[in-house]
Amino acid sequence: MPLDPLSATRHSSLSPCLNFVGGEWTRISGLATSPVYNPSRGEVISEVPMCGDEVVNDAVNAAADAFPAWRDTPPVERARLFFRYRQLVEENFDRICQMVAREHGKTLAEARGSAYRGMENIEYACGVPTLLMGDTLENLARGVDCETMHQPLGVCVGITPFNFPAMVPMWMFPLALACGNTFILKPSEKVPLTANYLIELLEKAGLPKGVLNVVHGGRECVDALLTHPKVRAISFVGSSPVAKHIYETGTRHGKRVQANGSAKNYIVVMPDADVPRTVEALAAAAFGCAGERCMAGSTALTVGAAADRLLPSLVKAARAIKIGPTDVPAQPDMGPLINAQHRDRVATLIGSGEKEGAKILCDGRGTRIADAPNGFFLGPTIVDQVQNEMTLAREEVFGPVLNVIRMDDLDHSIELANKSAYGNGAAIFTNSGPAAREFKHRVKAGMVGINVGVPATMAMFPFTGWDDSFYGDLHIQGKEGIQFYTRQKVISTRWFGKGVGDVWKK
Ligand code: NAD
Repeated sequence: MPLDPLSATRHSSLSPCLNFVGGEWTRISGLATSPVYNPSRGEVISEVPMCGDEVVNDAVNAAADAFPAWRDTPPVERARLFFRYRQLVEENFDRICQMVAREHGKTLAEARGSAYRGMENIEYACGVPTLLMGDTLENLARGVDCETMHQPLGVCVGITPFNFPAMVPMWMFPLALACGNTFILKPSEKVPLTANYLIELLEKAGLPKGVLNVVHGGRECVDALLTHPKVRAISFVGSSPVAKHIYETGTRHGKRVQANGSAKNYIVVMPDADVPRTVEALAAAAFGCAGERCMAGSTALTVGAAADRLLPSLVKAARAIKIGPTDVPAQPDMGPLINAQHRDRVATLIGSGEKEGAKILCDGRGTRIADAPNGFFLGPTIVDQVQNEMTLAREEVFGPVLNVIRMDDLDHSIELANKSAYGNGAAIFTNSGPAAREFKHRVKAGMVGINVGVPATMAMFPFTGWDDSFYGDLHIQGKEGIQFYTRQKVISTRWFGKGVGDVWKK
């Protein structure tokens, strides 16, 4: 019996997805819509409006009007909103995770893990009175004192991808708001329902009108946000071509931009790696969230005898993964991909590797689930003897596919990993300290794991993609997040004489 996580919310099954502008949930008639699927069933569960200039303009004006009062709200009061919000998110955690499972296809366990990562950003934002503190220096020059202040920017925008419907929006709006900005969230049109629910909870926590607004849509909506004169900063997470477009267009229009892009993450396995633990970590890194994550460990660079030690158990582990619909109480280990088009693209990429001479050890193509015949399933796939020149090796697959490239030594493994245009994550599995040290110093990636397969950072650390995995200067989360959502003012103060009267005289 499918769960019905949406039944008690305003955004119930099959009702259209609403915008949230100036504190009102609104439905705009006459706009084109895009279907929202339950990927476990291949069924349409809602429709999202494809908003353009007009709605964007209303949302930006609402956020701009709300800014002066919100900016002047003491940080401790802004933080209190997030203490209340965190409580509500925790109380409604199961519902949030069920919504993620329903519209995205993650298992409930994966939804929980990622929503926790999101919730930690709310917790981080609760510390904003301390995080916003500036520096002071007495007697910068004789009789002159100096201090810094971190002030909010104004209207900020967050544009999010499909693969983490709860976590990625929470990477952005809690900190942006806690720093005193107002915000427009443009969720992925593929998973808009969870985002709306998160904002319903924020409204319940006491969000003042206009401080956060939600507009739905695709490219047209995003372009209207990117060029709007009242928007000061843009946070983006999605694919690299779009991230680059966001960065170039946003900065050309005078905005501060942080834009996270795609990835291809390498995991080096040394011959001395602990086999059972490496197998477990590799399977989780490659097949967790059905491979639809920017930190997926999509390529194993096996050094020397590592492949032969590892692959039999890894293939066994991959074959044991139970695939199925995620909108039921009896949970599978792995859910579907986001839609049929994406599933077919992943299957085509696997086929291209096969044609170019790679060897498929475990093939997830053609996976059919009897009680969910229309779901967008593709099972765990392991492709051995991949060459780095193959399309499969070069393109981000974003599916449950592990490429194995056999290497002779660590040196060449690092060189190969460093040829990638991306630079999100990289990991090494070894028991050798010197090998790990060499790897962490030389590998060209912003997040590095040593015997950690998915070295994704948590709220207090920045999410530090490099090269084509990130466009901008200040990353999302952590202290860089605070810097991104504020600008500094340095104040030098000097007073003449002793002021009115003679009250200081001893
Ligand atoms: P996407 O780039 O297709 O979409 C992301 C957002 O951009 C959506 O809100 C979408 O509506 C909007 N968009 C899409 N095309 C656009 C266009 N031409 N112009 C303006 N806006 C546009 O990404 P996706 O498919 O939703 O997400 C998957 C991608 O996101 C993968 O490449 C993955 O690696 C990446 N990702 C990166 C990180 C990271 O932190 N580096 C995290 C999660 C996902």
